[in-house]
Amino acid sequence: MPHERRQQARRRWRLSTKLLIASSVATVIGFSTVCTSVLLDMRRGEEELARQTLENLAAGIDADISRNIELFDLSLRAVAGAMVMPEIKQVSREVRHLILFDHAATAKHFGAIQVFDSTGQLVVDASTLDPRPENRSDEEYFRIHRDQPYTGLYISKPMLHRSAYAIVLSRRISAEDGSFLGVVAGSIRFSYFHELFGRLTLAPDETITVLRRDRTIIMRTPFDLDIIGTNLAERRNWTPNNLKENGSYSGVGPIDQTPRLYVRRSGNGPLFTVVGKPLDGVLSLWRKEATRIGAIMAALVLFVLATTLFLAREIGRRAEAEEKLEELATTDALTGLRNRRKFDAEIDVEWRRAGRHAAPLALLIIDADHFKAFNDTYGHQAGDQVLVGIAICISDSVRRAGDCAARLGGEEFAVLLPGHTAVEAFAVAEMIRRKVEQWCDGETITTVSIGVASLTPLAGQNWTDLVEAADRALYAAKANGRNQSVVARLQALSLVA
Ligand code: GH3
Ligand code: MG
Ligand code: MG
Repeated sequence: MPHERRQQARRRWRLSTKLLIASSVATVIGFSTVCTSVLLDMRRGEEELARQTLENLAAGIDADISRNIELFDLSLRAVAGAMVMPEIKQVSREVRHLILFDHAATAKHFGAIQVFDSTGQLVVDASTLDPRPENRSDEEYFRIHRDQPYTGLYISKPMLHRSAYAIVLSRRISAEDGSFLGVVAGSIRFSYFHELFGRLTLAPDETITVLRRDRTIIMRTPFDLDIIGTNLAERRNWTPNNLKENGSYSGVGPIDQTPRLYVRRSGNGPLFTVVGKPLDGVLSLWRKEATRIGAIMAALVLFVLATTLFLAREIGRRAEAEEKLEELATTDALTGLRNRRKFDAEIDVEWRRAGRHAAPLALLIIDADHFKAFNDTYGHQAGDQVLVGIAICISDSVRRAGDCAARLGGEEFAVLLPGHTAVEAFAVAEMIRRKVEQWCDGETITTVSIGVASLTPLAGQNWTDLVEAADRALYAAKANGRNQSVVARLQALSLVA
């Protein structure tokens, strides 16, 4: 059946197209996955590199700050220790000065060390032998040392101290019995931090923040007085979990809205350092590379998809061409019916099918009457026209999808009617015969004789048996006077078989 063949061919080319599209899509997905994973790896590498750089920077800053605080603290301890020696009260002010501050660390950013008694009254000042009266009993650091004996080194919030911003480092002076004798205090001016940060070359929007352990901001660059001294512990949107000790954090920080990579470093000192680099900066190189690779990827994907579409269309075209070729090879050129070759193939297929389903298969063999005479009288071309007319009459009467009408050669036609009994086939034959008769009006009367046979295939039978039976019936029709349909007497045939 050509219809089925065509459907089969179509199914085949649809399958090839699907396979082609599926393999292209798989290629594109594979491609994209590999590229994406490479890009993500590159991004991770870039972030890792930035993190290491920031860690080194933070560690350097932290080490410098810790060393200076330690140094200053040593001086404070020395003074606190010396102040409780009983001899210190007996020596002159000059000698006392010499004893107390001989080893005191002095640097341009360190403020003078001062000693306050238990009432907060200034008693000794490293910068002068005659200190002006001063009382610091209201200061937080004084109260803390007075009320909490085991505070150790205390670092104050940033404050204005002797007309410069500074942090005050202080220690308690305790008597041997632990009672409060006073406080020794000194300051580290902000100029120290400014100079420390000034030595570094920072990109725009990079930040360095120095914080006290309770997360009070001691210093930050870029410098902003409003932020210095605030305590991050009071900020609801920021918890210590966001940035653990020696950890890192990617995102918006607690102070401004710029997303950064933050790295926290701290030694054993009372302060710790957080450095931040804008994510834009961390990923700028990567972004450029990702855009380039992405563009190449997109171009490749487009190319693959375009090629796939093109090939799919070509497959379609080829399938169509094949279909047409197949049709040409199986069609009779003059009448448009199927040709002999096709008929032989079809009857073979239908015979087997009928055998499988134990259904009858009917065959009509149609032959034009006295056609030689017609040709001789009206010419070969007129004869051809009549053949076309007969073919139309046949096609008009045979309309089921499974039926097959063919020109066997010369003025002989055949019709296969799967599932038709002899009676049903005879009705079709008569319809054809009458149509031809009616169509050929006037003087040029052409008639056809039709041999009809219907067989339900039995074991040992062949479709040639069916053809022979129909042929014999046709012969009988001719012998009977032509222009008639005759059904083959098959009883005998079946019995023989
Ligand atoms: P009958 O009634 O016994 O069938 O007589 P007939 O003349 O039709 O039978 P015969 O087999 O003797 O002649 C067949 C003729 O059909 C021979 C030829 O002139 C004609 N013929 C065969 N093929 C073609 C064709 O393709 N075109 C035309 N015009 N005529 C053809
Ligand atoms: Mg004939
Ligand atoms: Mg003939």
